[in-house]
Amino acid sequence: MPDPLDTVDDAVPALELVVEHARRYLADVRGPVREQGADDAARSFTGSLPDEGSGTLAAVRQLLEQGTHAHIRSGGPRFFHWVIGGSTPAALAADWFAVLIDQNAGGWDMSPIGTQLEELSLAWLQDLFGLPPEWDGVLTTGATTANFAALAAARQWWGEQQGIDVATDGLAGLPEMPVLTSGFVHASCLKALAMLGLGRECITYSIADETGRLDLGGLERGLKRLGGAPAVVIATAGEVNAGQFDPIADMGRLARAHNAWLHVDGAFGLFARISPRTARLTEGVERADSVVSDGHKWLNVPHDCGFAFVRDPMLLTKVFSASASYLADEVYAFRAPDLSRRARSLAVWATLAAYGRKGHRAIVERCLDNAAHVARCVDEADDLELLAPATLNVVCFRYRPAGVPEAQLDELNLRIGRAVLRDGRVYVGTTRWAGAVAFRPAFVNWQTTPADADLMLETIRELGQTLA
Ligand SMILES: *Cc1c(COP(=O)(O)O)cnc(C)c1O
Repeated sequence: MPDPLDTVDDAVPALELVVEHARRYLADVRGPVREQGADDAARSFTGSLPDEGSGTLAAVRQLLEQGTHAHIRSGGPRFFHWVIGGSTPAALAADWFAVLIDQNAGGWDMSPIGTQLEELSLAWLQDLFGLPPEWDGVLTTGATTANFAALAAARQWWGEQQGIDVATDGLAGLPEMPVLTSGFVHASCLKALAMLGLGRECITYSIADETGRLDLGGLERGLKRLGGAPAVVIATAGEVNAGQFDPIADMGRLARAHNAWLHVDGAFGLFARISPRTARLTEGVERADSVVSDGHKWLNVPHDCGFAFVRDPMLLTKVFSASASYLADEVYAFRAPDLSRRARSLAVWATLAAYGRKGHRAIVERCLDNAAHVARCVDEADDLELLAPATLNVVCFRYRPAGVPEAQLDELNLRIGRAVLRDGRVYVGTTRWAGAVAFRPAFVNWQTTPADADLMLETIRELGQTLA
């Protein structure tokens, strides 16, 4: 009868199984993104809870063998769907170490290393992104929870403007919190507003065209109508469909003039600041009240990791503190929704320590080059159509061979999109841009080469020719 206590000596052999597996896995990083049979492999994990376990090594072996066939190689260089990065070697190893020492990074008494590295990583990230050093922040599970934390700080500020401490007294008696934004806003901000008890409907959109671009005059009129009542403006630095940006500096100027909090969602777009080639896209971010970004996207650390930065970190503490007689006062757990937390700072610190400002700028610029390369190929091709300028790392285009009527293009591109995922050599998703179905590969992985990007275009064309 396997009892972990009887098999303590299996821990190191089990880890060695993983290392041996990693050797093969990492050597085959350009293997299929999705293996044929992945669904069956996943469903082969079934059955009822065993009375008698199979033992450490048997269970780990089963996981490695069947699990690998059932996974999506989203950390590999041929994955262009959504916005998902890989793991740099230093981040990968650091994250394994974080599991080995199994820290609860809630505060210093629980984890000196987790706390010190969170403080240092946040300061390094602020430096990397050119955010004022007097701001502070917190590591989260991703940009959704970072948006949640930052908008919770905004809600606290908004309540205080009206003499109400929302964290203590709640929202009762307050009017609706006005939130103004463009059509670029990410679904996770709406989800955050829902979780915060403000409701998705508290948003007023100012939209100039069918791509969702901001109508700046509309935003100004909307703020004026509030007559100085406090409000929140959300700017998006890098929207997911085509990598476009709201005019952050202009929105910041209006927010300042009309008593509004400026929140910037830069889940991947904040990384534009790392390269002088794209930094201008994020001008004005340094004048925001809160800014978020993701670790598991363009920083290339493992899931899950995001960051929220706020001008006044006390607002986070007011919302997220949880005083208890057994807890110290100043802990990171009091800036985030969770109390017990993974030491995700180890991977962040490790990748920044290992590759520095220049290494991470090189990652960003390789991605910019790949996106520019694909945009050029699309522009020059007779059977592909670029739908938006490739401003950053996302290329928005569709397959458009001669002889297929406009009215059939959406259906054709959707069918190719489904076929690409079944094919599995690369992964790339579709979206809608100004109403049209489009592919939108996002370049975020540190290892992607132009040849990987070419394979993506070849796959779309090859499947497109069969389906057209
Ligand atoms: C990905 C993304 C999010 C959500 O981030 P998660 O890490 O998936 O929670 C929010 N905003 C933007 C602009 C994004 O691209």
